[in-house]
Amino acid sequence: MSDETRLREQICLLARSIFERGLTGGSTGNISARTADGGLLVSPTGTSFGRLDPARLSRFDAGGVLIDGDPPTKEMPLHTAFYDTRSTAGAVVHLHSCHSVALSMMPDVDEDDFLPPLTPYGLMKLGRVKLLPFFLPGDPAMGQAVRGLAGKRSAVMLANHGPVVAGRDVEAACNAVEELEATARLAMLTRGLSPRMLTDAEVQAVVTAFDVEWEE
Ligand code: ZN
Repeated sequence: MSDETRLREQICLLARSIFERGLTGGSTGNISARTADGGLLVSPTGTSFGRLDPARLSRFDAGGVLIDGDPPTKEMPLHTAFYDTRSTAGAVVHLHSCHSVALSMMPDVDEDDFLPPLTPYGLMKLGRVKLLPFFLPGDPAMGQAVRGLAGKRSAVMLANHGPVVAGRDVEAACNAVEELEATARLAMLTRGLSPRMLTDAEVQAVVTAFDVEWEE
């Protein structure tokens, strides 16, 4: 099996796992990954994470030209914004995941640090998550907003819409976006109950011990 065949199957397998656990529904969500030749594999527009076909993924060459497969997601500008600003990005995943969307609607959420410091894993896998404002779906301004972060964040939350996370490969990006949703779920479950959060010293200890990207 070629590396690209394996990558195509991995994208579809992980997307299906996300769908089957209810982390994005219907035809929502999109996913992309870098290929060995500097191109991209991208989930096609209008497809469900539960039923992606490895043979029909949109295939771009290193120059950004669609050379094979179905037309890509209309959220392409979000994906290319991460690849163009983060040299370490090997994959990007976007979901419409329930608890993170709910948390983005709360009036007192911190735009610069969307997830409260509840668990070490949320910090380790995501660093600080930036909350971006609401945009119309498919608005290229979303990509511009990500570019405006100059590659300093691996994860953003689109208000009233869903998270977008970049990782070094497909598995890392999927693990990170799942951690984002799990942390948002904890935040919503404990909201108003005065949960014990990690202290500033505990946050710093995690950042140092696990070499977390921690953009102030
Ligand atoms: Zn979306």
